[in-house]
Amino acid sequence: MKSEAADIRQLDSLGRVVIPKKMRTALGISENDNLRISLEANAIVIKREVPMCVICKREKELNAIGTAYVCTGCAKQIADML
Ligand SMILES: [Zn+2]
Repeated sequence: MKSEAADIRQLDSLGRVVIPKKMRTALGISENDNLRISLEANAIVIKREVPMCVICKREKELNAIGTAYVCTGCAKQIADML
């Protein structure tokens, strides 16, 4: 997504702000998605949280272990080590 003119939004009394629909659509962000909010330099950065393998960062063939994910390839490597 190329940079566009910034929208100005008002923060409500609870610290909430609406992310413009065109920006959510451009990044594939949908209702109930998890978003990662971080402070970088003097900016707040919001990114869609993409589940990925905690070992190799792959985003496919994931197996949930508690709140973390391990891909099938890494799970097999771990199983072979045992
Ligand atoms: Zn992996």
